Amino acid sequence: MLERSNELNAWDRDHFFHPSTHMGSHARGETPTRVIGSGEGVYITDTGGRTSLDAFAGLYCVNVGYGRQKIADAIAEQAKNLAYYHAYVGHGTEASITLSKMIIDRAPEGMSRVYFGLSGSDANETNIKLIWYYNNILGRPDKKKIISRWRGYHGSGVMTGSLTGLELFHKAFDLPRAPILHTEAPYYFRRPDRSMDEEQFSQHCADKLEEMILAEGPETVAAFIGEPILGTGGIVPPPKGYWQKIQAVLQKYDILLIADEVVTGFGRLGTTFGSDYYGMKPDLITIAKGLTSAYAPLSGTIVSDKVWQLLVQGSDQMGAIGHGWTYSAHPICAAAGIANLELIDELDLVKNAGDTGAYFRSELTKAVGGHKNVGEVRGDGMMAAVEFVADRDDRKFFDASQKIGPQVSAALLERGVIGRAMPQGDILGFAPPLCLTRGEADIVVKAAAEAIDSVF
Ligand code: PLP
Repeated sequence: MLERSNELNAWDRDHFFHPSTHMGSHARGETPTRVIGSGEGVYITDTGGRTSLDAFAGLYCVNVGYGRQKIADAIAEQAKNLAYYHAYVGHGTEASITLSKMIIDRAPEGMSRVYFGLSGSDANETNIKLIWYYNNILGRPDKKKIISRWRGYHGSGVMTGSLTGLELFHKAFDLPRAPILHTEAPYYFRRPDRSMDEEQFSQHCADKLEEMILAEGPETVAAFIGEPILGTGGIVPPPKGYWQKIQAVLQKYDILLIADEVVTGFGRLGTTFGSDYYGMKPDLITIAKGLTSAYAPLSGTIVSDKVWQLLVQGSDQMGAIGHGWTYSAHPICAAAGIANLELIDELDLVKNAGDTGAYFRSELTKAVGGHKNVGEVRGDGMMAAVEFVADRDDRKFFDASQKIGPQVSAALLERGVIGRAMPQGDILGFAPPLCLTRGEADIVVKAAAEAIDSVF
């Protein structure tokens, strides 16, 4: 087994260009690749035979857990029966049409149609194009700017990388800044003025947004995009009243709201959508990861009836929509999506995400919340984060060069549990599969407490 593992590592070093990886240290063999061979429930096992509890569900996507026979069978059946047909000009497949109905049945009120893609990034590219098309139909060709937030994550494409408000994804690429703007992150723990309560800070964020809209000219601002709870930016739930105040500003200036539910869609917060959890009323919703629990790549843009009706009217004037991917609505991915959504219902995983998620966060807070270097334990549903600080009372942060987050996640892995050092700030993130049990939550909490003690 070890021999095979060494061989794969050598091939990997010589041939594989990894995403989001330091190329130099990988090429020099300083960070050997962990080759994952199998998965079962919440556990993965590498080709060296080491098993870990995956408390980040891959990249917060394997929501039903690993090794689900039902989804594997659905994929195999679809591949045998019809591996592919496209969805262009009046074609569809039984799987993709059925899945579109299942999604709309589960979506927040007022949602009408699903446009399928393959990744969260391409679904957000679709959102931008649909919004531009929409404003062209309305005769508002200047209303094209999109406001995102610092610390938001919306993908890695040219436009979606620009939407993403994390430095790592911008610097070194010269991604276009216009027509994308970034406003303040709703990050209460790092609020600029410590005397503000949550409602006041939410008002401050809404005021900043309004200032930006007025400075740019409301006639130039088309949409606002946000994850219901910031994910990759640090797993940061919005402060009280945030979405209500933001939505009031957007309505005032006729600006569309895109809820990026790539992480939160299909149960992660204990409600089917994060929009339900926080009382958001989006015009468009981005979905991906939890749609198939990553058994096959599939994403979607859910379009509200308000937007859809206008697109329909406008197509007479604009012509057929010149936007499509070869693999839009791929039947094998759709079959995986159907089996996945059925499994979520059969196992009552949305409820489990709420119940076991609350238990997990409460145990985590009890175990590490009082540590001298833990500034905050936060989260909602089956998402949690521990943020480290150099000094609790003075709210002093560590210098980035100390790499505290990666140190803690490495110590956690030594104890058999995978958490994620979030890319910006010293934050250890958790987003386990929605099928996590209380016993498994206890294992994660114990390992986290020991890992933190070992680093500080
Ligand atoms: N939107 C959000 C909120 C995400 O978390 C991600 C990925 O993590 C994306 C979009 C991009 O999805 P993908 O990596 O599938 O392109």
